[in-house]
Amino acid sequence: LISSQASPGLHVIHIAAEMAPVAKVGGLGDVVTGLGKALQKKGHLVEIVLPKYDCMQYDRVHDLRVLDATVYSYFDGKLFQNKVWTGTVEGLPVYFIEPHHPSKFFWRGQYYGEQDDFKRFSFFSRAALELLLQAGKKPDIIHCHDWQTAFVAPLYWDLYFPKGLNSARICFTCHNFEYQGAAPASELASCGLDVQQLNRPDRMQDNSAYDRVNPIKGAIVFSNMVTTVSPTYAQEVRTAEGGKGLHSTLNFHSKKFMGILNGIDTDAWDPATDIFLKVQYTANDLQGKAENKAAMRRHLRLSSADDSQPLVGCITRLVPQKGVHLIRHAIYRTLEMGGQFVLLGSSPVPHIQREFEGIANQFQDHEHIRLILKYDESLSRYIYAASDMFIIPSIFEPCGLTQMIAMRYGSVPIVRKTGGLNDSVFDVDDDTIPYQYRNSFTFTTPDEQGLNGALDRAFNLYNNDSETWQQLVRKDMNIDFSWHSSASQYEELYAKSVARARAATSRT
Ligand code: ADP
Repeated sequence: LISSQASPGLHVIHIAAEMAPVAKVGGLGDVVTGLGKALQKKGHLVEIVLPKYDCMQYDRVHDLRVLDATVYSYFDGKLFQNKVWTGTVEGLPVYFIEPHHPSKFFWRGQYYGEQDDFKRFSFFSRAALELLLQAGKKPDIIHCHDWQTAFVAPLYWDLYFPKGLNSARICFTCHNFEYQGAAPASELASCGLDVQQLNRPDRMQDNSAYDRVNPIKGAIVFSNMVTTVSPTYAQEVRTAEGGKGLHSTLNFHSKKFMGILNGIDTDAWDPATDIFLKVQYTANDLQGKAENKAAMRRHLRLSSADDSQPLVGCITRLVPQKGVHLIRHAIYRTLEMGGQFVLLGSSPVPHIQREFEGIANQFQDHEHIRLILKYDESLSRYIYAASDMFIIPSIFEPCGLTQMIAMRYGSVPIVRKTGGLNDSVFDVDDDTIPYQYRNSFTFTTPDEQGLNGALDRAFNLYNNDSETWQQLVRKDMNIDFSWHSSASQYEELYAKSVARARAATSRT
């Protein structure tokens, strides 16, 4: 069907629901591409399998073509045809699966949020494995992500290993334990998994409902390696408060569980080459950053009267995890303190979207505040470049990418210390941290006072000591947040797991 190029390194196949920039909702999309590219650079053969969504950004796929062969995949007692497309995204080979199922699974105009998400993604997980089997692929690693492709782990061992797709170790990464995709146990049968066998407390049964199955739990139990996206979050989810019901499962499987901090794709996020900016700039030329600020103020009809007025940015999904009440508070507080605020965000939660639409309307023609309630990557880049400070008051944050992107663009983060923020952001006033690592303003208690304390300190430094502020900006821009070191950790994890499997086979 389709052969993979031979490679001296490992053969890694990611099966995922997102991939930046073609199909991105949040950080997961960035990670699949960033980690994939970094591993490819290290000499590994990396391939990606994605659903072929109608709403993808097709202009970012190169050489998209449909393959001759059709893959038949089981679902709900029948076989369905799948067309398979190939293309290249950011230099990575990608297979796109287009199911010919009457429910038009990926023809819905959106990635997530459909009534039948459990069915759509369990279908996709199985079709992806079917593709690998029929193509005769022999990957060393199959890496699946989040609940949407968590089904891959039990499907692999229960159905595909016996069919001969048996070369791989399974790695599962959970990017956010809040989203577990639990559903009535009977729904699992659609993709051919055995409900009786799997709806057990030591397998896929949800820890709080005996008649529901939990795909994330299944992937924890059935994968060889389980990771999450930062060391601090890996600790937090092993506690009753942080684990969203899965802490006991994670503790039981702790030997195969670890946190690896995400990197960012420093080629894709680079103010020196970013074509969406008004002016490209580097840490040695902050005048370029100032020009972006001026241009964005004009673009968004904000006042340009005072060049030195600080501009606070915020780019986020507006969901409770992100501390929406504190984001709202930060808008008013910034105004009180004489700054400007730009928010780019959209919400899948109707009452939050409505609330922010109200605030957006209130400030529609305001000279210091602008809320743009949509997803817009080019505008996001402009805001990272134009802002002086960047606010992230998360209640919990598995890793968080925006603090790293903000620093790369010279916008100083103001964040709550939690999860991956705790592993990447260090307060400028924290004497327990070596000076060279201090990069931001942080607070601990997720309330208005906590946020005010950090915001006040940032405004103080910005307004009263521009020399030190500029040094901080330059220092932040020079921090290495690339995938290099994190990809090495995945590489080591994969290699150890493959070596263990080979050692076990040679013993038998
Ligand atoms: P999460 O995955 O929880 O959404 P992350 O910080 O890990 O949060 O990743 C967020 C990513 O999505 C970043 O690349 C950020 O720039 C981008 N993003 C979030 N909201 C928007 C938006 N409204 N428009 C454009 N990009 C956005």
